[in-house]
This record gives sequence, C-alpha cells and structure tokens, in this order.
Amino acid sequence: MFAPTRIYSGTPMAVLLTHAAQLLTLRAPHAGSGPRRGAQMRELGMVDDGALLILDGKIAAVGVTDEVAKQLPPGRASLEDIDCRGKVVLPGFVDSHTHPVFTAPRLIDFEKRISGAGYEEIAEAGGGIRTSLRGVREASTAGLAQHVLSALIQMSAQGTTTVEAKSGYGLSLEAEIKSLEAVREASRHWNGTVVPTLLGAHVVPPEYRSNPDEYVRLLCEELIPQVAGRELATFVDVFCERGAFSPERTQLIFRAAAGHKLGIRAHVCQLTAANLGPLLLFHPASLDHMDFVRDDDLPLLAASDTVATLLPAANYFLGLSTFPPARRLIDAGVAVALATDYNPGTAPTPSMPFVLSAACTQMKMLPAEAITAATYNGARALRLQHRKGSLEVGKDADVAIFDVEDYRELAYWFGVNRCSRTIAMGSSV
Ligand SMILES: [Zn+2]
Repeated sequence: MFAPTRIYSGTPMAVLLTHAAQLLTLRAPHAGSGPRRGAQMRELGMVDDGALLILDGKIAAVGVTDEVAKQLPPGRASLEDIDCRGKVVLPGFVDSHTHPVFTAPRLIDFEKRISGAGYEEIAEAGGGIRTSLRGVREASTAGLAQHVLSALIQMSAQGTTTVEAKSGYGLSLEAEIKSLEAVREASRHWNGTVVPTLLGAHVVPPEYRSNPDEYVRLLCEELIPQVAGRELATFVDVFCERGAFSPERTQLIFRAAAGHKLGIRAHVCQLTAANLGPLLLFHPASLDHMDFVRDDDLPLLAASDTVATLLPAANYFLGLSTFPPARRLIDAGVAVALATDYNPGTAPTPSMPFVLSAACTQMKMLPAEAITAATYNGARALRLQHRKGSLEVGKDADVAIFDVEDYRELAYWFGVNRCSRTIAMGSSV
C-alpha cells in the first residue's frame, strides 16, 4: 500500500506577496512565446518592491507593491500575506530533465569512477544504467512512487515547481509502464506539476543485446502505443549515442512517437558528436546534454524552436574537466535551458540552485542567463510556456522565494539552501 509522506489538500488559497526586494517576472521582453535567445536571456523583467496577487492558483496581479495592493478583492481578511522584504521572488524552477524512478544509489559505480573507470567502461562491466534495472523491475509501483515523491519533495524544497520525470530503468514493457504509473501516483501527492516522459530507449536491455532491432520493434509497436493509449506520458525520449541508440534507430522511435501524438526529446551529443539535422526534422521539444554539438549544427538549432537543455551537474559528478558549451550556443542564438538530470548514476542532485552555480562558474553563463534557462526556457522545453516559467497574469501561481536580496546570489551561494518558501498552483509545497 502506498503511504505518502504528505497529502496535498487541493484547496488553493488567495495569497498576497508584497515588498519583494527583487521580483523577477521573466515576462516576455517582446511579443511572442518563442524561447528566449541571445540578449533576451539576460532580461529578467525585474520589479523592485514587487508584489504578486494569487487567486485560485493563478496569478491575478503582478507589479510594484502599491499598485498590486489596490487590486485586492473584497474580503482581504481571508488572504494570506507574505512579507517578502529582503527576499528575491521568481517563477518556480522548471526542472525539465530528471530520471527519478530508481530505488538505490549506485555506490559501486561511484567508487569505480573515483578509481579511474570511465562512463562506458563502467557500462561494459555491467554497471551504469543496467545496475538500476533489477531494483526497478523487482519494486512495486507503490515502492517506486515513494522514491519519486521523495525526490519531488527535495526538489521543491529548493524552489522547483515543475519537474519532467522520465522512466528508463525498467526497460521492459511491464517495468516501463510500472515506472510511469509510479510517476503518476507520486504526482498526485505533490502540488507541483509533473511531466511524464517515456525513456524506454535509454539503453538496449541485456536480454536484447544480440538483437537490438527486436527491442526497437517492441518500443515502437507495443510500448509506445500502450503508453499513448493510457496517456501515461507526454513525451518520448531517446538516448541517441554510441552504445545506446543509433541515429537511424532514434528516428524510427521518433516516428512511432509522433504517430501516437507524443512529444519528442532526446539525449544527444553527451559522449560523441551527432548530426542533428535529421533529428531536428521531427521538431523535438528539446535536445539534451549537447556537450559535443558541432558548429555546423548551430545555425539550424538557432533557427528552430528546439531548446538545448544543458546538464552541468552530470559533468560535475563525473569529474569531467569540460562542461556543455553554453557560451557557444547562446552566442549563436540557440535557446538554452538548464536542468538537474537528477539520476542515480551521473547526477544525484535535486538542486536547481546548484545547477545555476555550475552553469555560471563552469560554463560562464551570467546569473541572469542561468535564471532564464532554469525558468522560462525550461517551460519552453516542456511546451508549457503558456502556463509556466514567468510571473504573468493568468499563469499558474508557481513561485520560489529566496532569502537573498539580489538575484545574482541565487547562483553565488552553493552547498546551502537559501529557498525559504515554494508555492505551486497557489499553495505552499
Ligand atoms: Zn538524462
């Protein structure tokens, strides 16, 4: 029996936030809802002495405190007032790339890597993604849901209100469906927003190693149709990489996903360069990692609405000396998002503020660019920009309050949680 650690009551409240030292609205600098690129990524729509009025889970007014206070409806006494003096208020983070459906940390891999083994070497030795298979296959749906919920709670404690959650450690029809059912179950007990993604194409499972085409057939003809039919996922993701799925097999899986009206995203260019042209023909919502993106592909990416989601926590945890090329991408006009990549093998962190720190110190993103990448562009990477990623009237009231006076401190402090309160759909998380 699934035993949640907390249950969301589901009663949105009227809330008034006032006197924020800095309210970062992330409102559109120009007309249109395209992802933010280039100089737009530095525009935070900041309001000094800012306020936000939340009614019925939506943002009802936003601006300077004096103006917003005038828009209070009758019955002010029923409002909850939150004094944000000395604090920064911003849209809740959108963590657009996570793998929360697993049961245990991978400590043997951790030690092996410290002793010098590489990512692919660990995978060859039976470690890596395959290590998590047994735990997920043997777990109950309720047991997995408990793990997912625990991760969601840790994420929201650090300001995250929207999480994309992938399956991908089951790698059989039953275990992938069970993983997505666990995501659905966990999301019912957390008042943030969860976007489920089918990552059946994470690696080829051991029982299909001699016949990967048969596994691709299973994905395309059985798993994707079942997941689509039961509305268990919004997106299909593929790990398109040497040792995982070739570009040709990736395209077969994309075609099946599109045929079932599911969105598309991919892990690509993490370990080796890939030709992005054929993948971009499928209009993926995002292409993630991008460490080895080729210069030739930058104009194509910049001309598309596909977001490049960068995952520096993985580089940090793997002890790499190189990080995703954020400057090259941003300066070429590519829309960039940041996410944790929360997973047991390469990025065991629920913390978007840590990702901001890594993006600024290791990838030379400016704090404002990193905040845009972690909010609005993250929402764009999940095609939720009409509801999430900025504080604008009519959008979901997803808000993070940080106990700092200047937005640059969000990326400056690390190893400490300065998030003092998280509000999702108008209610405290
Ligand atoms: Zn990933």
